[in-house]
Amino acid sequence: MPTLKSSILIIISVCLLVLLITGGFYTMYLTYTIKTDAEVINKLGVIRGSVQRIVKLELAGIENQQGVDLIDKNFTEFHENRVKVFDENQEIHNSLNDLYHSWRQLKMVREIYRDDPSPENTNLLIGLSEEFWLKSNTLVYISQLVSEKKVDKYETSFFLFLINLPIGVLSIFLIKRYVKDKLEHLVNYDPLTKIYNRRYFNEYLYNQIQKSERYKRDMSFIFLDIDYFKKVNDNFGHDVGDSVLKELSHLIQTNIRKSDLLARLGGEEFGILVAENNVEKAYSLAEKLRKIVEAHDFRDVGKLTISLGVTEYVPGDNVDTIYKRVDSALYKAKNNGRNRSEILV
Ligand code: GH3
Ligand code: MG
Ligand code: MG
Repeated sequence: MPTLKSSILIIISVCLLVLLITGGFYTMYLTYTIKTDAEVINKLGVIRGSVQRIVKLELAGIENQQGVDLIDKNFTEFHENRVKVFDENQEIHNSLNDLYHSWRQLKMVREIYRDDPSPENTNLLIGLSEEFWLKSNTLVYISQLVSEKKVDKYETSFFLFLINLPIGVLSIFLIKRYVKDKLEHLVNYDPLTKIYNRRYFNEYLYNQIQKSERYKRDMSFIFLDIDYFKKVNDNFGHDVGDSVLKELSHLIQTNIRKSDLLARLGGEEFGILVAENNVEKAYSLAEKLRKIVEAHDFRDVGKLTISLGVTEYVPGDNVDTIYKRVDSALYKAKNNGRNRSEILV
């Protein structure tokens, strides 16, 4: 039966699993960003080199509009796309914007220099080229630092992920077992009284009949029904009726042996399979239980009585025949005035 302890265990397992999955996704995210960081650093290097080259060609008087257009296209594209990636780090974000601005300035001065290659404009172009070089160097440096930090984080998160992996597997195993127990519980137990239900009782009865047949063992069946239970519902309401059923189940359960099986077979009808006992001994148990119930003060209701039918396994019995006999025994008890036990073999 799932207990509070197993519920807590399951909550812990689910939390661990969520942690493991989150850790896994975080590691994947870091892997992705480290990869894109490397691409960025690489691309920045290429842009830096290309800018230096076109300034050098320009100063040598060699026309290279195609090279300028190519850098412009690549840098604009890179700037627009990578700003999103760099968004998480403001310093990189600002540096990249600044570098892009320098590029636009440099491009403009190159046009001016082309029309008027005066020493003044030459110095301006060389100065801007140096500035671009320094700025791009700084940006590569910052990006590398950020990326290295991410690599450290990646190593830690991957290590934690590896440690958590067996815990995750254990969590899945625990959750699976919990669900299985819960389902088994739903299938075998009565939700109101928390004792076994008719389905489980019948299965158990079938198995006990097989055993009795094979090993010639005694086995008895007590069938009990609350007397005038309808009156309880009518006088006190259905909820009180329900709590009487719970109280009676508990009372009987605590007064039978562990080897005996108690189940709720219907509304206010219960069955007890008495292992290793013949009908006389089962009758004694039935009378003991009847007297206990008779003496008990039920909450809100007061006194109640039960009637009991008792039978035992006889060779050739099956589930139906033994049920029919015990039902007739109960009928006899009711007919003979209730608050009594009757045997039928
Ligand atoms: P007797 O057995 O002595 O012949 O009389 P009775 O009044 O107990 O008769 P009967 O067995 O016909 O009535 C059983 C009643 O049990 C009818 C139904 O309202 C009630 N009952 C069945 N299941 C439940 C339940 O789960 N909760 C409550 N509160 N009442 C139930
Ligand atoms: Mg009844
Ligand atoms: Mg009944």
